[in-house]
Amino acid sequence: MRTDIDERANRAGNGRMTTNIVIVGGGQAGAWIARSAREAGFQGTVTLLGDEPHLPYERPPLSKAGLLGTGAAYSPVFEREDYEKLDIRFEAGKRVIEIERPNRKVVCADGSQYPYDRLALATGGRARHPVFPGSDLPGVLTLRTVEDAAAIASRMREGGHAVIVGGGWIGLEAAAAALQRGMSVTLLESAERLCARSLPPFMSDFLLGAHLGHGVRVITRTSLSSIRAAEGGQLIATLATGAQDIEPADLVVLGVGLAPDVELAVRAGLHVDNGIVVDETGATSDPEIFAAGDVASLPLSWQQDRLRLESWANAQNQGIAVGRTMAGEPVRYDDLPWFWSDQYDMNIQMVGLFAPGRQEVLRGDPSMQRFSLFQLEEGRIVAAASVNAARDLKRARQLIKDAKVVDANALADSTIPINRLSLV
Ligand SMILES: Cc1cc2nc3c(=O)[nH]c(=O)nc-3n(C[C@H](O)[C@H](O)[C@H](O)COP(=O)(O)OP(=O)(O)OC[C@H]3O[C@@H](n4cnc5c(N)ncnc54)[C@H](O)[C@@H]3O)c2cc1C
Repeated sequence: MRTDIDERANRAGNGRMTTNIVIVGGGQAGAWIARSAREAGFQGTVTLLGDEPHLPYERPPLSKAGLLGTGAAYSPVFEREDYEKLDIRFEAGKRVIEIERPNRKVVCADGSQYPYDRLALATGGRARHPVFPGSDLPGVLTLRTVEDAAAIASRMREGGHAVIVGGGWIGLEAAAAALQRGMSVTLLESAERLCARSLPPFMSDFLLGAHLGHGVRVITRTSLSSIRAAEGGQLIATLATGAQDIEPADLVVLGVGLAPDVELAVRAGLHVDNGIVVDETGATSDPEIFAAGDVASLPLSWQQDRLRLESWANAQNQGIAVGRTMAGEPVRYDDLPWFWSDQYDMNIQMVGLFAPGRQEVLRGDPSMQRFSLFQLEEGRIVAAASVNAARDLKRARQLIKDAKVVDANALADSTIPINRLSLV
């Protein structure tokens, strides 16, 4: 039986053959779209256009090994030979500035043009850089690219001081890295608690305790009002909440979120609402244009509201689904959000989405930095976060998918192996 999705996926240009797939955005999602379209058997040309001067690369190492100096910041998604083997034309340094939908082509800043039958937008986003007095001083930095990571790492020095603005994932990883590089660290967060958008209060409190325990000075409910330059390239930060003493800093990292790169889509008249709005196959309001990764606003079957996910797993897996769909092998993308972060000696993982007002079950021992927190609805696990307990999280992922009722008391008992929980 042909479904609605099959119809949409196979209707390439009013019955025209799809011979040209063009992908704008040479990041993780773009690379996976290109590869998956080819691996799904697409025979036409696949062109991947990226404005950075590199092969598509993974960003998680930027705030981990890249800042710690323990490994390479640059980790390509695929090697150059892989693109050659798959006959994917990858062009670096190509900024697409226009989508001409009536003529089905994209136009680059250098004047070059690429015709498409099907187009994917995998443009990700830019790190937000708020504007305030001194926000453009050298040493006030954001973290999104391999160059950003190198600039931040070059200002880290033993005995120095780093001010990190933003107590979200990037801010916390940057704080941990600076501290491990021998700096003192002041972390500023405008909300009441850390990672407030993605984690419940228990986990925020745990993270606060961990960072305080390592010696980070954390100030919540505050923001920067200005920065001024002092002698020797030092930066003096002033808080919007009044006179708190912040010692001169060697660097200020702004980790205050991502602005999705939607301008092309907006100018092309596509439906955009906090991200490029797509259906379950990744198709935008134009059925021949798709979007994936950080820039896409998705419908997910188990969630009422649309979501824009900023995670490695989503960029890869939605990219794979979109690549196959563009090749005519329709895929409905409906993964659970999964995210990880490494801070000090903690591997933190999260699956599902947390919300207030749900039953919470703790398993393990936070004081040993090995535990999981589960949220349940009507006896079923709907979200989980773990610290150094990857096995719990893997099982939680399966339990969320299976939607089985679990015995909350047994779940809390870490002497019962998580794989042996009785389910209803
Ligand atoms: C420092 C850092 C650490 C992270 N750590 C983790 C982690 O530990 N765990 C986790 O799950 N996730 C992590 N993430 C998130 C994850 O890396 C992102 O979700 C993922 O990179 C998104 O991939 P993407 O392809 O959608 O976007 P991007 O990686 O942003 O790629 C988009 C690309 O498109 C290019 N582009 C934009 N506009 C145009 C245009 N008009 N023309 C041509 N090219 C264009 C951009 O320059 C960019 O190269 C981290 C992100 C960062 C920045």
